[in-house]
Amino acid sequence: MKCLFCSIVSGEIPADTVKESDNVIAFNDINPVAPTHVLVIPKIHYENASELASASPDVLIECLEMASSIAKERELDGYRTVFNTGADGGQSVFHAHLHLLGGRALAWPPG
Ligand code: AMP
Ligand code: ZN
Repeated sequence: MKCLFCSIVSGEIPADTVKESDNVIAFNDINPVAPTHVLVIPKIHYENASELASASPDVLIECLEMASSIAKERELDGYRTVFNTGADGGQSVFHAHLHLLGGRALAWPPG
């Protein structure tokens, strides 16, 4: 079965795009858990953040920079960036993605 986020990158599945560069795309999460819930993903497929960090650290940094620029544009009063990795990490889509969460006070520790 084809990767869901690769299908978003190719345009086969529509997404609500927030920002895009040559290597990275950011789009709204389909099931937001905060007023701002954006996913920032590399356009090339990596299974998780660990694979992305090993293979393409520059693109990992680009993901973080894009999340930061969206947070600045929205003047968020703090925010959280999260890569869920693996089953116990809560990862459900196995194409590396950075969650940008903000717009409300976020609880810690996570569940
Ligand atoms: P994770 O559980 O960290 O793997 O996060 C996967 C995220 O992808 C979840 O927050 C989902 O709501 C989100 N998601 C799943 N399908 C789509 C989609 N078609 N468009 C946007 N976000 C999606
Ligand atoms: Zn993919």
